[in-house]
Amino acid sequence: MEGRHLLPAYSHLTHLECSACGATYSPDELHSLCRACGKVLYARYDLARAAETMTVAALGARPFSLWRYHEVLPVRDPAQVVSLHEGGTPLLPLPRYGAEIGLSRLLAKDEGRNPTASFKARGLSVAVSRAAELGVRAMAIPSTGNAASALAAYAARAGLEAHVFLADDAPPVMQAECAAYGAHVHLANGLLSEAGRRSRSESGERGWFDLSTLREPYRVEGKKTMGYEVAEQLGWELPDVIIYPTGGGTGILGLWKAFGELEAMGLVRGDWPRIVSVQAEGCAPIARAFAENADHARPWENVRTFAPGLRAPATIGDYLILQIVRESRGTVVTVGDDEMRETRHAVARAEGLDVSYESGATYAAARKLHATGFLQGDETVVVFNTASGLKQGGTEG
Ligand SMILES: *Cc1c(COP(=O)(O)O)cnc(C)c1O
Repeated sequence: MEGRHLLPAYSHLTHLECSACGATYSPDELHSLCRACGKVLYARYDLARAAETMTVAALGARPFSLWRYHEVLPVRDPAQVVSLHEGGTPLLPLPRYGAEIGLSRLLAKDEGRNPTASFKARGLSVAVSRAAELGVRAMAIPSTGNAASALAAYAARAGLEAHVFLADDAPPVMQAECAAYGAHVHLANGLLSEAGRRSRSESGERGWFDLSTLREPYRVEGKKTMGYEVAEQLGWELPDVIIYPTGGGTGILGLWKAFGELEAMGLVRGDWPRIVSVQAEGCAPIARAFAENADHARPWENVRTFAPGLRAPATIGDYLILQIVRESRGTVVTVGDDEMRETRHAVARAEGLDVSYESGATYAAARKLHATGFLQGDETVVVFNTASGLKQGGTEG
């Protein structure tokens, strides 16, 4: 203990701030949405102090997992970190597929390499670590699959109790995966919205901590590390365009938050990327709101798509996704299931990379956007493989 106060802080977390009304809260107790207006809370840090130790040289000498950015993550005590080595995924050039669709600088951030084979691991490693640090012993999550399996794995790793509420259309392989990690699997008898209602009401009754998308502030913190890594892997430059498949929107929110923090710390400068949100034709609430020039998205009825990560009929982060896409001069693209499937196979054949349907949608979007002139052939375009293709078992029917 002696002299411990002389060590630089592991985290420079200072407060939580509402993304809509600006109300602030102490970060050292559990929070979900803003108590004043019901909107999404963001974690804030003392970035000037973080920048003193998070230098380019210091970062380069740390292990390449998302915890290398610990100064701007919420966990205060390194002993509380629950890790399976998440993050530190490769940014792979796609020369052959890029040439097929006319893009000479197409890169894929391969999130399928994460524990449980999707980028959901990032958010849940950070959220489970922080919840455990604040005394939580049992947690719940509604999911179409990937978030559930990630929670199940990190809860097992931490020795905590996990309750996963799976939508009826969750791929069977993911249900088996959750059970294998010892999670309590609850079938929702409904789609994702119903799973969410059940997760929140049972958590309220039983005292579990509910980790629903954007209803606690720390899954986004894990996901923002994708933005830190892309910047670092491009030599502290940002790409021209990012193409991301959107369900609940935490990926896009996290990336945008990362760019703001990186700029404030002086780690990047210049223009930020144009952000392209990709949705399934059969579940496109954000695309519809973008086309209507609306600030919020109406819930989508009759969700129909193979891609489990895109089966989000509504998200409480709708206003933030729409703001980001507009502010960045980006756009929203929809892709049909047949195109997702064909593109997924085309990428696998051209590049040796087996990607999920959600990721297939981003490559299809890249092709369409080059055809319409939104993308120039020599722009640096980063697409996200949000999950491995190996996780799709059973979804095509
Ligand atoms: C959850 C998920 C998405 C959507 O993620 P958001 O960042 O919440 O919009 C995309 N792809 C896959 C594979 C997912 O599991």
